[in-house]
Amino acid sequence: MDTTPQNALFHTLSAEQVASLLEVDLRDGLSDQQVAQRSAIYGANELREKRRTTLAEKFIAQFKDAMILILLAAAVIAGAIGEISDTVVILIIVILNATIGLIQEYRAERAVDALKRMTEPEARIRRGGHLQSIPSTQLVPGDVVSIEAGNVVTADLRLFEVADCELDEAALTGESFTVTKQEEQLDDAELPVGDRSNMAFKGTNVTRGRALGVVVATGHQTELGKIADLLKTSGTVLTPLQHRLERFGGKLAVAILIIAAVVFFAGLARGEEVMLMLLTAISLAVAAIPEALPAAVTISLAMGAQKMGKHNALMRRLPTVESLGSVTYICSDKTGTLTSNRMRVERIDADGTSINSLSEIDIGSEPWQWLGRLLALSTDVTLDEHDEPLGDPTEVALYLGALDGGIRKHDIETDFPRIAELAFDTSRRAMTTLHTIGDEVVAFTKGAPEAVIPCCTKQLHSTGDEAIDQQEILQQAEEMATEGYRVLALAMRRFPHLPDCITQECIETELVLLGLVGLIDPPRTEVPAAISACKTAGINPVMITGDHPATASAIARRLDIASDIEVMKGSDIAALSEEEFADRVEEISVYARVSPEQKIAIVKALQKHGEFVAMTGDGVNDAPALKRATIGIGMGKKGADVAREASDMVLLDDNFATIVHAVSEGRRIFDNIRKFIKYTMTSNAGEVWVLFLAPFIGLPLPLLPVQILWINLVTDGLPGLALSAEHREKGIMSRPPRRPEETIFSHGMWQHVVWVGLFIAALSLGAQAWAFHGGSDNWQTIVFTVLTFSQLMHVLAIRSEQESLFSIGLFSNPALIGAILLTVSLQMMIIYVPFFNEIFHTSPLSAHDLLLCMLLPLVVFVAVEMEKYAVRQGWIYN
Ligand code: ATP
Repeated sequence: MDTTPQNALFHTLSAEQVASLLEVDLRDGLSDQQVAQRSAIYGANELREKRRTTLAEKFIAQFKDAMILILLAAAVIAGAIGEISDTVVILIIVILNATIGLIQEYRAERAVDALKRMTEPEARIRRGGHLQSIPSTQLVPGDVVSIEAGNVVTADLRLFEVADCELDEAALTGESFTVTKQEEQLDDAELPVGDRSNMAFKGTNVTRGRALGVVVATGHQTELGKIADLLKTSGTVLTPLQHRLERFGGKLAVAILIIAAVVFFAGLARGEEVMLMLLTAISLAVAAIPEALPAAVTISLAMGAQKMGKHNALMRRLPTVESLGSVTYICSDKTGTLTSNRMRVERIDADGTSINSLSEIDIGSEPWQWLGRLLALSTDVTLDEHDEPLGDPTEVALYLGALDGGIRKHDIETDFPRIAELAFDTSRRAMTTLHTIGDEVVAFTKGAPEAVIPCCTKQLHSTGDEAIDQQEILQQAEEMATEGYRVLALAMRRFPHLPDCITQECIETELVLLGLVGLIDPPRTEVPAAISACKTAGINPVMITGDHPATASAIARRLDIASDIEVMKGSDIAALSEEEFADRVEEISVYARVSPEQKIAIVKALQKHGEFVAMTGDGVNDAPALKRATIGIGMGKKGADVAREASDMVLLDDNFATIVHAVSEGRRIFDNIRKFIKYTMTSNAGEVWVLFLAPFIGLPLPLLPVQILWINLVTDGLPGLALSAEHREKGIMSRPPRRPEETIFSHGMWQHVVWVGLFIAALSLGAQAWAFHGGSDNWQTIVFTVLTFSQLMHVLAIRSEQESLFSIGLFSNPALIGAILLTVSLQMMIIYVPFFNEIFHTSPLSAHDLLLCMLLPLVVFVAVEMEKYAVRQGWIYN
């Protein structure tokens, strides 16, 4: 295939014509060589994003801040009319600052990219005769792809084998109803995309059934690709915290500019040079306006998200990392998330007896023979290259149940080929497959007992068909459910030929019951501990399941979900008005037989009470509930792509315990952002007070512009960043969730910023006054060093919100210790290396003065430790 068959109207061709045009064998798929050739021609199957900004553009963007530009302009003017060395140093510091910003931004972008790659959907394809899963970006024209309910279609396909398949094409056509697919060739070349019923298009969702198709277009050649440029690309989303910080930053900037103006005029009044004072005031503004805070928050969130990805919690959107700490409800599916999803058949009730496995009975006798065939044939299980069954765990369990009795699907499916089916759907809770047997047709139906038993008119015994007592069988199913089994009723019906209408009404009536099968799915071992952690963290765990209420309540009890377990059925929710349900929602810890629409009702009702709801979902129909939930959680292993696409976070191991771990990690990240802000704001406050207050107490200008910028770059920068590596606070999961509307400055933060800022300034000015009035020439170096070291002492003290440094361990954050040592060494360099003395206008300190500069800041440490002691005692900031 040398040329792109782009213009071929594939829907007007037969499957064979398409196959020959694309040079592919539809049974075996493409060969490796064909794939390699086509990848080279067509490239990756992706819609390229708009052009990325280059590194140089990013670097220039670092200077877009107005204050930095003003500083640069002032520095250049100052250089032109006076001493050039200050100008050069200011330039170097500003460039260094921009470089650090650039590196951080680049790392954050890489982290976000890596996350994006990890959430790309997979495609199930047949290549070289083997079924395999590959990242959908690797699809090429000619690939044979299998799609089923829950999948997102990842390339344009010409369907050639369709089983009860429906697609939601809203993403492409805007039409909200689903479209039924078929495989026949269509005549009309002019058919609009939405009417090409034998095609499936990239970006659309499979809502029902399954199909096989051959890829006819990838990437930008797809119908979606053609309109992709028209689609709005959503820009970067700011998190609520970033929004607030931006707004706050704006107000703070005004205040700082006023202070800078006061410093400027006060300096002039004392007779300082205009240019010096201008540079001082601008440097102060640059140093104190926290313009980098929102960016720093992005970096923390992105890095945190990357770390969480390594622990199986993939963040699809950054704001999620922030909101995790506010979660008050985790509504989780039962199967696979709370349980291990390793279902197996443990009990089969038929013909008046109860057995554990088909291996215990004579499989040649009735009703066991039909029951065994049903288990083998009526399941959508495929085998991988090692003959391991793949598919829905319930189906796999049933398939293995048949194997226990020695019935192999492969051996009997040629005698009983499947000719039609009514796919499983979660609201009907049943599924039927139709097979030919000789001249006849047999329908096998399996599903929830309440769905199947009322459709049964007879029951098959060893003695033949007998009348059925539906109540008695339902009762029996209920008893099994109470023991924790997932119960399915199995039934069949014979037809003389394939009925004309393949609908639930025509097929799933007058059934003959074969028996009941009970599946066991043991709870995950780590879940009880995670549930108990939730409860101490003020988070309510809620189980939502499609299973029987008795099964649900048995498992909930085993997991100790609540002390008083109240189960509500989906039908009960439906019977209540929105208000009535909202009144009760907070008492319910288990929901059973719930349909996906009712999941939305649960989220809405909880949100009415102001709750922050995280909700898991794996089915196609779960997508709306996941979107509605504050944090929608998709499943990485099982479950529909559609659900994953709608979610904010994906659990790679489908495990409830991972959610709880993510919540605690989210709390840690938020705590550390808070510490970073606390540190930066307090440091800035200290610098501002020093410069602002000095003239009022009769002291000369304490710091020169280069010194101010140095403090901003070195002391604020390095240790501040290292705070993000801080470990979890001890009681992180025993405090209640953070209220979402709460400001970041609550719990004593603003008080801390004000008093510690003033305290550091007082110490520094005290040292200055002592040195200045004592006639020392070094007074400026002293105040500069005391201020720098005070900030280092401060950062050590705020590593934990409450715990003392000694209880968390001095060395438990090596990055921070490294940053502090580096900062101290750099400061020493500035004080003692003659070259830097010139540049930074410093002078070497005597041992006595240096000791003072080191001891005085210890007072800051002690004071903040005392503050924490008071917090621990509950005396302040409650
Ligand atoms: P959970 O919410 O705990 O994850 P679920 O969403 O997997 O449960 P459903 O898949 O909706 O639950 O299943 C609901 C009921 O439908 C089951 O209790 C079972 O009786 C029936 N059922 C499940 N899978 C099948 C299937 N493949 N064929 C027929 N019936 C099924």
